[in-house]
Amino acid sequence: MEKLPFKRLKGQTALITGAATGIGRATAIQMAREGANVAIDYLSDSARAREVTKIIKDAGGKAVAIQADISREEQVKTLFRKVIETYGTVHILVSNAGIQNEKAVDKMSLEEWQKVINVNLTGTFLCAREAIREFKKRGIQEQVSRAAGKIICISSIHDQVPWARHANYTASKGGIMLLMKSMALEAAPHKIRINSIGPGAIKTPINPKIMKDARAREKLGQSIPYRRVGEPEDIAMAAVWLASDESDYVTGTTLYVDGGMGL
Ligand code: NAD
Repeated sequence: MEKLPFKRLKGQTALITGAATGIGRATAIQMAREGANVAIDYLSDSARAREVTKIIKDAGGKAVAIQADISREEQVKTLFRKVIETYGTVHILVSNAGIQNEKAVDKMSLEEWQKVINVNLTGTFLCAREAIREFKKRGIQEQVSRAAGKIICISSIHDQVPWARHANYTASKGGIMLLMKSMALEAAPHKIRINSIGPGAIKTPINPKIMKDARAREKLGQSIPYRRVGEPEDIAMAAVWLASDESDYVTGTTLYVDGGMGL
């Protein structure tokens, strides 16, 4: 029997956007556990970002927290520059930062539309563009991975399931799907793999009700085919697999991690 998988991301650097909370936080911790050097991008909550770096460092891992608004081009460039200054390069981007802003279309201002599109869709483009530039420049480092780089977009089941009062959000996630697929097609000959994860209902601060209210969570769980609400770690584990060489022949696809919700 071959040795069991061990530290599947050893020697690699992973940048996770919006990683002070929720899915990003769990992914940063899980990737560090798998041996990656981790960069934690955060928007404003420096205390929570520092908490994540402390958890990783206390466990013997490497982590750095960097503030950047991923919807701003110059800040994204600076973010990548700082990650590369710290660790030498970047091998894995988890484009996770995202927001929701519930509103009926006829009540939605242009500003409310653009804010969600700018963070979720344009932010993914800006981060992916910098990552692809770095992956192409560096090429493959065989000692760490068969691919020159991996991008994982944290999308949603709402990249294909419509959602009333969330047209800005669904448009951004639907946009991510074809952005991801087009980038994957373009980047595959350069040995760069790009995929999405489509979470269902996950217990994170983006869903304050199911975060705080155990009864609401239980009720929602019962409406999901697999009969539970998802945990951030459910997504983090899938992200590790997509970042590892175990998924080396997987690109341009969305992995739905939703307990069957999208069915
Ligand atoms: P979350 O609110 O805990 O995480 C989102 C993070 O993004 C926050 O830390 C926030 O500060 C950060 N962020 C927001 N705007 C940013 C910006 N401009 N620049 C940098 N960071 C910014 O919620 P989450 O559930 O962990 O969300 C993570 C991703 O998962 C999002 O893209 C969300 O759409 C997606 N998702 C979540 C669920 C769910 O049920 N929780 C379901 C489907 C998809």
